[in-house]
Amino acid sequence: MATEQPILRIEGLRKNYGAVAALQGVDIDIQRGEVLGLIGPNGSGKSTLFDCCTGLQKSDAGRVLLNGVDITGWPMNRIAREGRFLRSFQKTVVFPTLDSYENLVLAGQMFAFPSVLSTFWIGPAARRRIAALRERAAELIEVSGLSRVAHLPAGHMSGGQQKLLQFASMLMPKPELILLDEPLAGINPVLIEKVIDCITHANGTLGITFVVIEHNTDVLMSLSHRVVVLHQGAKLADDTPEAVVCNPQVVEAYLGG
Ligand code: ADP
Ligand code: MG
Repeated sequence: MATEQPILRIEGLRKNYGAVAALQGVDIDIQRGEVLGLIGPNGSGKSTLFDCCTGLQKSDAGRVLLNGVDITGWPMNRIAREGRFLRSFQKTVVFPTLDSYENLVLAGQMFAFPSVLSTFWIGPAARRRIAALRERAAELIEVSGLSRVAHLPAGHMSGGQQKLLQFASMLMPKPELILLDEPLAGINPVLIEKVIDCITHANGTLGITFVVIEHNTDVLMSLSHRVVVLHQGAKLADDTPEAVVCNPQVVEAYLGG
C-alpha cells in the first residue's frame, strides 16, 4: 500500500489567519482505501486542513495533490464538481419536501448528469445509470437504518435522521474520497451506530476512502486504520490507533486530563 500513489497528498501546507498560524507546514499522505482519523485539541487546525484541501480557503504555502494532480488553489466547485472528492459540513442540508429515496436519487443524479442538456435526452446508458442509482439509494436506506422513516418528507425527520440522510446522499455519487468533519456531533447513540455502519459499508463495499475528524476518540480509534494528531497547526503523530493512544506526547496534548 505504501508504494502506491496516495489518493491525496498534502505537502507542507501552511495557513495563517492574521497572527494565528493555523497550519504550520503539514504533510499527510492519504492512501486509497483507508479510513484516516484526524484528532487534536480545539483550534489545532483540523478544519482548516479540510478547508485548504477542498478550496474553501486558500493556503499560504504547500501543495495538495489529488491522484497526483495538483489541485492547490482550485476553487471549491471545481474540486467537488465531478463528485470524486467531497466533504461534509456541520450544517445539515436536505431537500425537506422530498422523501429519503428521492433525496438520495437526486443527490446521485446531480453528479451523474451535471449538464442541464443531459436531462432532456435519456438514452440507454443514462437509463442504466439511473437504475444503478435507484439500487444504491435503496441499499443505503437499508444500511443507514432509515427504512422506517424513508417515506416521510425529509423535513419531518429528526435532526439526527436528516444528518444521516445527508451523509448517505454524499455516498450516492460513489466518490473516491470523503472528508468528514465531526460527523457524530450532536446525534444520539443509536444514530451514531448507524453513521458508523454507513462509513464501514462505504469503505468496505463501495471502496470509498475517508478522513474523519471526530472528538469521540473511542469511536474514531475503532473506525480508523491510521490516526494523525494535529497540535498547534503541526503534525504531532501519524500512526496506528493502538500506537497513538499510547504516545506520551499525544496523551499530554490531547488524550490526557
Ligand atoms: P480545529 O478544527 O482543530 O478546532 P480550526 O482549523 O477551526 O481548528 O482553527 C485553527 C485556528 O485557526 C484557530 O485558532 C481558529 O481560531 C483559527 N481560524 C479558523 N478558521 C478561521 C477563520 N475563518 N478566520 C480566522 N481564524 C480562523
Ligand atoms: Mg474544527
